Amino acid sequence: GVSIVNLHKRFGKTEAVREFTLEIRDGEFFVLLGPSGSGKSTVLNCIAGILRPDKGEIWIGDKLVASAEKKIYIPPQERNLGMVFQDYALYPHMTVFDNIAFPLKVRGESPETIKDRVTNISAILGIQHLLSKKPAQLSGGERQRVALARALIRNPPLLLMDEPLSNLDAKLRVLMRVELKKIQREFRSTVVYVTHDQVEAMSMGDRVGVMSSGVLQQVATPEEIYEKPLNTFIAGFIGSPP
Ligand code: ATP
Ligand code: MG
Repeated sequence: GVSIVNLHKRFGKTEAVREFTLEIRDGEFFVLLGPSGSGKSTVLNCIAGILRPDKGEIWIGDKLVASAEKKIYIPPQERNLGMVFQDYALYPHMTVFDNIAFPLKVRGESPETIKDRVTNISAILGIQHLLSKKPAQLSGGERQRVALARALIRNPPLLLMDEPLSNLDAKLRVLMRVELKKIQREFRSTVVYVTHDQVEAMSMGDRVGVMSSGVLQQVATPEEIYEKPLNTFIAGFIGSPP
């Protein structure tokens, strides 16, 4: 799992994240939910290693990957995780095959291994027929699958996703929710999933953490949050009955 202990992160005068402590369990689909600007991406980027905490510690499994106090900072590529961004961040000049293969090439895998793995993961995600195309030739949903394939290709035990469905139309978004859950179960990965969409959070999360103004307000199952919201902000945001 992932342990975050008393994380603080500020940008100039903005306290993006404050006193954030959270334990994410192995194999869990954990959703970080909150309105725009509440600090969700900041937390995720600290776990990924894209940002350095100002205070606090982050553990991935039993490895301390970031500690401001102990001056420990492990770079993203050594954290053994996959990340999917809102805009997918595919390499536009590369084919789908090369996009998916990229993390393995960087690691110096043989061409045979790379071909096997890309073929395998593409079959699972149903994108075999797209391997020779460029990202610009794909639909939003197809790009989303390619980004997912690239994140999954190294079989990372931890998968971080930042609003990965927000660019899709409503119908595809609903389909992809189900798809993502299926893939997570298949790969038995631990997922930290960021969204501002209550319905998405409630339908996908094993547990949900609700954030506002940089503070983690409540961590519970979707049912608990809906039935027993801790405060009026959460009740209003989730739309619980009064
Ligand atoms: P959204 O749903 O809009 O993506 P979020 O919950 O992911 O929002 P963050 O991106 O974590 O929110 O931002 C938290 C706060 O920190 C915001 O007030 C934001 O303006 C600020 N912030 C985030 N990144 C930076 C940055 N690189 N420089 C300055 N301020 C930043
Ligand atoms: Mg964000």
